[in-house]
Amino acid sequence: MSDVQHESVIIIGAGPAGYTAGVYAARAMRKPLILAGYQPGGQLTITTEVENWPGEKEIQGPDLMVKMREHAEAMGARVEEEQVANVDLQTRPFKVVTDSDRHFTADAIIIATGAQAKWLGLPTEERFKGFGVSACATCDGFFYREKEVIVIGGGNTAVEEALYLTNFASKVTLVHRRDSLRCEKILEDRFMKHPKTEVIWDTVLDEVVGTDMPLGVTGAKLKNVKTGEVSDINTHGVFIAIGHAPSTELFKGQVEMRDSGYINTKPGTVSTNIPGVFAAGDVTDEHYRQAVTAAGMGCMAALETDRYLATLEDSLSNAAE
Ligand SMILES: Cc1cc2nc3c(=O)[nH]c(=O)nc-3n(C[C@H](O)[C@H](O)[C@H](O)COP(=O)(O)OP(=O)(O)OC[C@H]3O[C@@H](n4cnc5c(N)ncnc54)[C@H](O)[C@@H]3O)c2cc1C
Repeated sequence: MSDVQHESVIIIGAGPAGYTAGVYAARAMRKPLILAGYQPGGQLTITTEVENWPGEKEIQGPDLMVKMREHAEAMGARVEEEQVANVDLQTRPFKVVTDSDRHFTADAIIIATGAQAKWLGLPTEERFKGFGVSACATCDGFFYREKEVIVIGGGNTAVEEALYLTNFASKVTLVHRRDSLRCEKILEDRFMKHPKTEVIWDTVLDEVVGTDMPLGVTGAKLKNVKTGEVSDINTHGVFIAIGHAPSTELFKGQVEMRDSGYINTKPGTVSTNIPGVFAAGDVTDEHYRQAVTAAGMGCMAALETDRYLATLEDSLSNAAE
């Protein structure tokens, strides 16, 4: 085992939430350590244009995340590309172990490990990701003004995404592997009555079809699960809406979570059930899932961490007197 390194605050995760927490905690002179994991920069590193980050009319996702990292580091945050393998949040100070066997203790922890969209795993889905295949209607819907798109899925996420896309697209076709939707009735009614929508039942996405130069989607092959028949559909965009999974495996049994696996925070705050442990960004938010909301929660978590550490310091100095 390596030596144990003590930190005032460890931020686990280096997406918009983690880097923003880093900026604020560094400016509060807390010398934060950000453990970035396998995906430094987070989910935005796998997308192309981002058009809804305030102050940037259009920026490539990876470029935005490089800027956020540089900003956090310039303020004094340290970033290490370590994947956390284990935490113990039941002891004080908290314990953190990385998969390269580095051992840390920390007085406060900000969990900003984000989430991952679930994908189908098709090779052509991978090829066109960010170039016509998306998992986020709020992020990418605007690029499909007056175009036809398909949405894969049939639960709340899919129907919400499909309805959101009707604001831009000329037609939204939902492709669902069953013969009925699995969403709230009110969403189903709204979707079914909408003049721009259509559903293809008992069907799955078999292949995304498109061009190489420029890389882009022109259609899809759909397979009927009952007959096995494969048909073609013309479309400019394929939205995969089969849900998201928060990156919280590591915290199971350590911190309170909802049934969905997202970390529970007290309403309107970033406080978990453990004093000194805060959660920010997509790891706790299954509703908005945006860079700017994640960053906002990162800010809240750093401010709360600073207050928590100040109280801790007061109680230690009172005890010493
Ligand atoms: C394809 C795509 C396009 C998108 N486009 C937009 C857009 O245009 N606009 C927008 O606002 N939002 C967009 N989003 C959503 C946005 O990316 C997320 O809401 C945002 O990234 C959430 O930030 P986060 O900091 O909470 O987590 P994430 O960005 O998910 O970052 C999580 C971080 O935690 C780290 N991590 C995970 N586990 C561990 C571990 N065990 N140890 C250490 N580190 C760990 C990861 O390495 C990563 O650095 C898009 C998402 C996707 C997938």
